[in-house]
Parts: sequence; structure tokens; C-alpha cells
Amino acid sequence: MVKVAHVQLSSCCGCLISLTDTYEKLLDVLNSIELVYCQTLMDVREIPECDVALIEGSVCLEDHHALEVAKEVREKAKIVVALGACASFGGVTRFSKGNQMPKPVNSSFSPITEVIKVDYSIPGCPPSPESIVSFITALLNNDENYLKPFKRLAEKPEACGCDLLYKVVNKELCMGCGTCSSSCPTRAITMIDGRPVVNTTICIKCGLCSFHCPRIEFPSILENIE
Ligand code: SF4
Ligand code: SF4
Repeated sequence: MVKVAHVQLSSCCGCLISLTDTYEKLLDVLNSIELVYCQTLMDVREIPECDVALIEGSVCLEDHHALEVAKEVREKAKIVVALGACASFGGVTRFSKGNQMPKPVNSSFSPITEVIKVDYSIPGCPPSPESIVSFITALLNNDENYLKPFKRLAEKPEACGCDLLYKVVNKELCMGCGTCSSSCPTRAITMIDGRPVVNTTICIKCGLCSFHCPRIEFPSILENIE
């Protein structure tokens, strides 16, 4: 059995709700894993040694306990997965202007990918139930091809719609397919004359547009110019 921990830092619980929304598909996954830690679903106080840790939420830099938890997860888990936009890229917590009482000073939030080494990042705000189960299934089957884009996101976090402009459109790679626009949960991307135009004021930094763009990993002609 693969031992899995779910660790929650600064988040709204949306990723956990998405995970439990998988219903019977989750039961299939639970037949192959042993859930050893989950603050919401279990009464276990210490994070145990485990094979996989799914971390949800960003890290509040004014909260020393959160920083220690992040470090502890890296020490105890063989594989660390950033679950959702906040853990992967900061997500909506990037816009936080201070927490509620009694901790109004809590205003600096970093994605877990900037605090510890993360092996995989799952984009989305929240990630869809299907994408979480498909990811866990691929991890259990060691399906390297399926896991590759999740690994790339952990190594090079691409979170804003603007990334598409720099990495795809500006490099003559965009083919105008509109996948980025249709995958955006806030409709921040409009296709105009076959090109994506990003409204950055409503982009929540979820990373889905870059994740789904079929051209983001293509080499550009510019890479051959010294
Ligand atoms: S443009 Fe949309 S899909 Fe892309 S990161 Fe922003 S909110 Fe997410
Ligand atoms: S998904 Fe990529 S290739 Fe398709 S329109 Fe958007 S930027 Fe262009």
C-alpha cells in the first residue's frame, strides 16, 4: 500500500473538496492507498513518514509553524505534490492584503514550490476531481509520460495568462486553437483575431492555460539564434 498524506496550509479547502468530489472514483484510488494523515478527515496529530504528500495551500511567511510544517513534509515524504494553484503558484493568496484577526499581519504568502523542493504540481483553482484522480492513478502506475507536464510545472511554475504571451505568442508558436481560453475558469482570456488576449485583472494565477496549451513545450526559432 502506498502511504499518502494530505497536508493543508493557507487555503480555502477547495482542493480537498475537489478531491472528495471524485465519489466512487476516489474509492477505487483508496483501495490502492493508505491515507495516513489528513487534518480534516483524520485525528492524527503528527505527520508520519509517507510515500506521497499532497500539499494544499500556500505558505504564510509570517507563520513560523507553517514554514516548519513545509520543511517537515519534505523530510518525511518521498514524493511531494503541490495540489492546486495556491500550493503551486500562490494562486489567489498572492492578492491577500492581510489575514483576519487575531493575525492581521499574515499578509505574505508564497507557493510551496518557492519554499521546498516539490516533485509535481497539479494546476487548477481547484483542480478538477477527474484531474486529481487521474494524477494519483498515474503516480501509482508510475506513468512517466502522463506525469511529465506535472513535473515540468513543479520545476518551472507558469501561473499567469501572461506566460502564454511570452512563451508561446511572442515566439511564433501560437496556432490559435483557443484551448487556453476555454480552460480558463475566470474567462480572463479572449481570443481576438486568433490570438489570446489576457485580462490580467481577473487572472487568478491558476496555471491551467499554460498547462493545457499544446505548444508551450515546443522549441521556438528564437532558440536557434545565438
Ligand atoms: S489566464 Fe485564466 S487559466 Fe490562465 S492562469 Fe489566469 S486564471 Fe488561470
Ligand atoms: S492554447 Fe496555446 S496555441 Fe492555443 S491559442 Fe492558447 S496560446 Fe495559442
